[in-house]
Amino acid sequence: MSNLGARMQNSEYQPWHLEFRPQTLLEVSGHELLKRTLINSIKLGRIANGYLFCGGKGTGKTSTARIFAKSLNCLAFPKPTVEPCGKCSNCKEIEAGINLDVIEIDAASNNGVEHIRSVIETAQLTAVNSRYRIFVLDECHMLTRAAANSLLKTLEEASFKRVVFILCTTEKDKVIDTIASRCLNFDFIPIPQSEIIERLQFICNQENVEASNSALKAIAKHSQGGMRDAIQNLEELALSADKTPIESYMVLQKTGKMQNEDLMKIMDSVFSGDLRGINTLLLKSHQLITQGKQPKEILEQMLEVYRDLAQLVILIDNGEKVDPESISLLSDLNLEYLTKTAASTSWRQLELGFNAIERAFKEVSLSSNSRIWLDMLLLRLAKLGLF
Ligand SMILES: [Zn+2]
Repeated sequence: MSNLGARMQNSEYQPWHLEFRPQTLLEVSGHELLKRTLINSIKLGRIANGYLFCGGKGTGKTSTARIFAKSLNCLAFPKPTVEPCGKCSNCKEIEAGINLDVIEIDAASNNGVEHIRSVIETAQLTAVNSRYRIFVLDECHMLTRAAANSLLKTLEEASFKRVVFILCTTEKDKVIDTIASRCLNFDFIPIPQSEIIERLQFICNQENVEASNSALKAIAKHSQGGMRDAIQNLEELALSADKTPIESYMVLQKTGKMQNEDLMKIMDSVFSGDLRGINTLLLKSHQLITQGKQPKEILEQMLEVYRDLAQLVILIDNGEKVDPESISLLSDLNLEYLTKTAASTSWRQLELGFNAIERAFKEVSLSSNSRIWLDMLLLRLAKLGLF
């Protein structure tokens, strides 16, 4: 039985995104500059009153906030540490979200001034069993203006010693300036694909799960820089694959994407310059829609291919060699196929095609019958291939 199967049968089972949560700042994926800044501030004992963590979902804001809290309050060390033990009562309780001195508040549902006032009252009490009293305010851009204003003083007053506010938000633009300027600001940019793949591979090794490189790449790509989404997808795929290796077609299936063979069939018909291909093209399009694929997803995948072809056409036109090691492609199609197609495609055809897809995007989003616009686009693209 796989590790996953064994653990699912006992009560200690935890979803992988929790099981494989990083335990120290150094273990957090990506965010090198941000990690270094937090590590140095812990080492130097320069802990600010307010921190603002901004970034998309799943980029590590909450995980980092918890690790930072553990680093400040771990009982195994006499002062803040960059390597919290993970075993003392504080570390364990913070991990479980039940520590009395580390309070996590969802600002989306506790956004009124009365909520923040009670937070400030609590902040004035001495910590129960810790060096710092820490408040993590998730979705802090949802605070009302009055609530945000009442928080301002707390963020700047020196009387609030050993109190740390970590404000998290997915929408930095909506955080009022006076709050942002009183906090140390940290941007959680999307985690690079290579780091996500590395983490997924690590989890596969730990869990005895087999997955092809292209499958891991497809999962990482779909997660758009969010580690949590990527790990959740991997776990779901491992369950449905049921001990068989995870392949990229399974990822495409799960994420509602077109399979590579279908995408290639469409591209072949579009670029063939052969009118007989048009029927095949429309049949394929109808088939995909019947399978539940969304026209917008289809357009997105086509756009990626056009972008890759444009890159290759420039290289080929300049007489440069296509180096598989250094070229960075967006689509999942293989380089050999793309290079062959690019060699028989003109820049002009790609440019017109790109514009037509962009226009179809708008039409598909607005129209109640997006399928017709997909057909129209395919016909337009095929017509371009005839020149
Ligand atoms: Zn500890």
